[in-house]
Amino acid sequence: ARAELMKMEKMQIVSQMAASISHEIRNPLTVVKGFIQLLQTGRLPRETEERYIRIALEELERAEAIIRDYLTFAKPAPKETEPIDVAVELQKVLQMITPMAHMHSIHVSSSLEHGVVIGNVQYFQQCFLNLLKNSIEAMPNGGTLHVAAENRWASVVITISDNGVGMTKEQVRRFGEPYFSTKEKGTGLGAMVAVKIIEQMGGTWTIESAVQKGTTLTITLPASRLRPPTAEQSAAG
Ligand code: ADP
Ligand code: MG
Repeated sequence: ARAELMKMEKMQIVSQMAASISHEIRNPLTVVKGFIQLLQTGRLPRETEERYIRIALEELERAEAIIRDYLTFAKPAPKETEPIDVAVELQKVLQMITPMAHMHSIHVSSSLEHGVVIGNVQYFQQCFLNLLKNSIEAMPNGGTLHVAAENRWASVVITISDNGVGMTKEQVRRFGEPYFSTKEKGTGLGAMVAVKIIEQMGGTWTIESAVQKGTTLTITLPASRLRPPTAEQSAAG
């Protein structure tokens, strides 16, 4: 009976993982779809086309990488972590979601300090892609999305603010709960994945929200004194 119980638990984890995978690969696929739809108009300057193709290919590779990550998950292999420049990585995610934001009349602004945290870069990006996507989805009639990164004593504080639909106290309480979604086609996995990644990095998060006013998410991550591998390149570039 015990072996059967363990088998059942294992299967539950596998089915949860399958749901997570399909959710996670939907993000890059949506970006690729968006860029291909833009390319389909055939009215873009050559340079822009090349950039969109490059981004689309990068996104497809990212989808592959996410699948790889999830399939390695079940193995007892340790996850790869490294120093991350939050400004560099947040900028990449912002670049990815900006076309989506503009399509919904959302103004994107950012104020990013170069802080360093320790984590898996792909998870870091997934985390903030999910959170920023939620903010965009919270503003169906347009608005402003603001992202900031600030160095504090021994920590890096990242804030994501939107002036969207906001959340009730109950919704704030359930944020990060698997399969909790108020959206017709929502999966309720994006926030859970984000929260898990934040916790994995030793971070904490708080939500300030008012219905029909907006939401501010504050994420506090432990700062590292290590130098990110890309710091010199990005300083030179
Ligand atoms: P999904 O986006 O698929 O619904 P998530 O796990 O990403 O699932 O989010 C869970 C729920 O949290 C959302 O359905 C929404 O109700 C709420 N939520 C998350 N972020 C925001 C936000 N910025 N503004 C308003 N509600 C939000
Ligand atoms: Mg979501």
